[in-house]
Amino acid sequence: MNSTLNQWLTGQIDDLKLNSLYKEQLVLESPCNSRITINGKSGIINLASNNYLGLANHRDLVAAACEAAQNWGAGAGAVRPITGTLQIHVDLEKQLAAFKHTEAALVFQSGFTSNAGVIPTITDGNDVILTDELNHASIIDGVRLSKAQRKIYKHCDLRSLEEGLQASTAASKRLIITDGVFSMDGDIAPLQGIVELARRYDAAVMVDDAHGSGVMGGGRGTAYHFGVHHDVDIQLGTLSKAVGVMGGYIAGSRPLIDWLTQRARPFLFSTAQPAPVVAAIMAAIRLMDRDSSLTDKLWENAAFWKSGLQGLGFDTGVSQTPITPVMIGDEAVAMKFQHELLNEGVLALAIVYPTVAQGKARIRTMPSAMHSRENLIDALGAFKRAAATVGLL
Ligand SMILES: *Cc1c(COP(=O)(O)O)cnc(C)c1O
Repeated sequence: MNSTLNQWLTGQIDDLKLNSLYKEQLVLESPCNSRITINGKSGIINLASNNYLGLANHRDLVAAACEAAQNWGAGAGAVRPITGTLQIHVDLEKQLAAFKHTEAALVFQSGFTSNAGVIPTITDGNDVILTDELNHASIIDGVRLSKAQRKIYKHCDLRSLEEGLQASTAASKRLIITDGVFSMDGDIAPLQGIVELARRYDAAVMVDDAHGSGVMGGGRGTAYHFGVHHDVDIQLGTLSKAVGVMGGYIAGSRPLIDWLTQRARPFLFSTAQPAPVVAAIMAAIRLMDRDSSLTDKLWENAAFWKSGLQGLGFDTGVSQTPITPVMIGDEAVAMKFQHELLNEGVLALAIVYPTVAQGKARIRTMPSAMHSRENLIDALGAFKRAAATVGLL
């Protein structure tokens, strides 16, 4: 190996370790369930996954994936515009558009590539993008790929957004981008206010609803929750979190989707999702479309979990959703707390810089519809004991 590169790499890694920022890869030795096996230890309560509705290994999804593998094979064989578009992709896109109450939808390989696909494709050098300071990394990267000028507004701050709009009247188009639900704090974007400002200043609105899909609005997302889904121009959803599989999509108008099929680079230059993945997603959307019982169970569990943590004296920050941070502050304490929790039989991960700001370390907990009441009561006991061990509370 090139020794200059090698020295640089080991130096970088040593720095992370010195600052308690190095993360060991966690390996699950069982499927993603409410209890999982790690390092040969079974029965660990899983509060770390984004599997909000427990669909990741739901039997309907597994059966649909197996059947699709038999019928369509393991891989799609090409990018979408060559021969990668199977009938099942088209069926999924129709199903998603109907589920989201939009004219059309387009599926990408992930939520991440959906952002990389849509943002640079609908903006150019004469445009301005207004983006929330706590937007997800994939939005940030999507914005970097665009030639538009970038204006970052303060987190969920409508005044700051309005100032940005007032200062960008020379732009030929303006696009406001926000997470629907913010993944690190669990707070919700003020979409009604954003949509109002967008209308007043003639801007388009894009909501990345990765953590809102399957969670907000009975499962149909944050825009639907606020009743503004007809005023949000671009809704991005992930199929990798609550939907339990892998992929992302854009839901919106027919011209938007048509343009993306012509120009979005991950759509043009990266292979289509395999049919078993697509079939499993369709099974998940069918379940979510039938009724909101899984979403209702998720919120019920989240309310129980959050009040339990608060009852123990933990600070759950500004969360309004099932994403429940336990605010710690110091990176090293958060890492130690994560370690003690695992000793006590709970997996909940420390989120530290650079994922969140320095000094804002936290343990992020994700209760889901798959957890039983007993799981959550056991986990609260573990939090109490681990906190005593590390000297918190
Ligand atoms: C997780 C996440 C993504 C990425 O979705 P994947 O399907 O996992 O690639 C995009 N945006 C936000 C806001 C996310 O939280």
